[in-house]
Amino acid sequence: MATSDLEIYQFQCLDDNFGYLVHDPVAELTATIDTPEVARINQALADKGWQLTHIFNTHHHPDHAGGNLELKEQWGCEIIGARCDAKRIPGIDVQLDDGDSFKFGDHSVQVFETPGHTVGHLVFNFVDDEVAFVGDTLFSMGCGRLFEGSATQMWNSLEKILKWPDSTLLYCAHEYTQGNGHFALTVEPQNADLQARVKEVDELRAAGKWTVPTTLKLEKATNPFLRPASGDLQRTIGKVGAPLDEVMGETRRLKDNA
Ligand code: ZN
Ligand code: FE
Repeated sequence: MATSDLEIYQFQCLDDNFGYLVHDPVAELTATIDTPEVARINQALADKGWQLTHIFNTHHHPDHAGGNLELKEQWGCEIIGARCDAKRIPGIDVQLDDGDSFKFGDHSVQVFETPGHTVGHLVFNFVDDEVAFVGDTLFSMGCGRLFEGSATQMWNSLEKILKWPDSTLLYCAHEYTQGNGHFALTVEPQNADLQARVKEVDELRAAGKWTVPTTLKLEKATNPFLRPASGDLQRTIGKVGAPLDEVMGETRRLKDNA
């Protein structure tokens, strides 16, 4: 176990992105997970009195890597991203592959390649802390759109996340939960855990509150993209007995058209 606490500072960027600063107070390291909005990230650093030392990039989209070069110029920070997508990660210094791990202070970080939304998507799991940053691969009650990968690739990616401990806190990159939840009810209407979660989310959003982070345990119970084995889901979308990647793919297709 790591001996220092990991501090996480969460803030809104753009319309519905989350910014995250991850800070190790002993090693005096601060990483931003992605670079959605430079001014907001700098404001967050000033609020906390932290110096930016690292950028961990989940993927190349502009709302995730668009601020890389400006922040690197300002802070001289080190940029970490996917080797297989290095050409599209501005300013990348350290190229990582699936299964790599590294230390952030004395916190172990495991890196998983999760293609589907983009080819080179990475998620970062601070395993000692049971905290993971899942970018645009997994959302609360949702998953990323398949811009560059197949449903089979995305299902294989989600299966990597499903192997983590249930108590893992999942920090996703967007506040998409309410829309996802209302779609989820249309494909798995009998799921009582889902009904309860959507009610809770409606109340949180009505009060102007965030619904992220979530936990893997809650997502296993409510997220249709993690539940292709559900009989209710399979019946509702007309895929009884189909392979799990096909069920997930049909769920994704229905969400795209919802
Ligand atoms: Zn994206
Ligand atoms: Fe995004």
